[in-house]
Amino acid sequence: MFAIAVHGGAGTLSRRDTSEEQEQAYRAGLSEALDAGYALLERGAPSLDAAIAAVCVLEDNPLFNAGRGAVLTRDGAAELDASVMDGRTLNAGAVTGLKHVKNPVALARRVMDHSPHVMLVGAGAEEFARLQGVELVSNEYFRTPVRQAQLHRLLEGSAEKENDLVAFGTVGAVALDSDGNVAAATSTGGMTGKRWGRVGDSPIIGAGTYANNEGCAVSATGHGEYFIRTAVAHDICARIQYLGVPLATAVDGVLNGRMKQLGGNGGVIAIDRSGNVVLDFNSEGMFRGVATSAGRRDVAIFR
Ligand code: ASP
Repeated sequence: MFAIAVHGGAGTLSRRDTSEEQEQAYRAGLSEALDAGYALLERGAPSLDAAIAAVCVLEDNPLFNAGRGAVLTRDGAAELDASVMDGRTLNAGAVTGLKHVKNPVALARRVMDHSPHVMLVGAGAEEFARLQGVELVSNEYFRTPVRQAQLHRLLEGSAEKENDLVAFGTVGAVALDSDGNVAAATSTGGMTGKRWGRVGDSPIIGAGTYANNEGCAVSATGHGEYFIRTAVAHDICARIQYLGVPLATAVDGVLNGRMKQLGGNGGVIAIDRSGNVVLDFNSEGMFRGVATSAGRRDVAIFR
């Protein structure tokens, strides 16, 4: 049994404002990411490789808020965060505040595999990237006209709706491989108009990303501050370990419990060793997809 699930963020679009073509483009992007990860799992590759391959595809796709097409800071720059975690070893890697690394998730993996650390920040992380021979690009590579327009609307105060301001579009993947190991990966540009070096949940192990074979693997998307405060990804995992509840119950308890009461919204994808996959959110929609060796294959946006 093997399986992979991906997300492309929770709630940038409302059903009312989404055209048929837009919907098709998002679905195609999610499918392409699923295919990349699934092909690796089919060849017996580890779940972490599959999750990272899927996230790289989404980072390269300008529709999603990660890598190319990331949302912009108040200063008009792209500033990227990512993290990965291996549920077999509990090894993890994370990077934040990157401005030139083409695929932040791949650098997070290198932090895990080739440094004694878990998390590297900004200029230091980019110095490490150079030493590792990771592909670097100019900040312009990440900036698309759509994101520039979003920032403009935010700065002039004409963003029509909350989602225009925050533009959740973070990407992530969780996978289970045929050896029974789970893994998670998440990558983001954060939130539109962020400043002062703001860091969200995506690169925080335990908040936006977590994986432990004894519980599950989780990748989150949503209003990061709330996900950090309630340690969403780790809490889901811990409920399975300590309470013995099913994956869906653990996810529901966290998304619709304290986090929601505090005002947080967003969603998660999660997978456990038995191949259960949950894609759940308390927002209007979440770009998401799942493919399993048992034949389940589905890509969806709205509820
Ligand atoms: N969680 C991300 C952050 O707060 C945003 C998102 O999911 O789109 O940085």
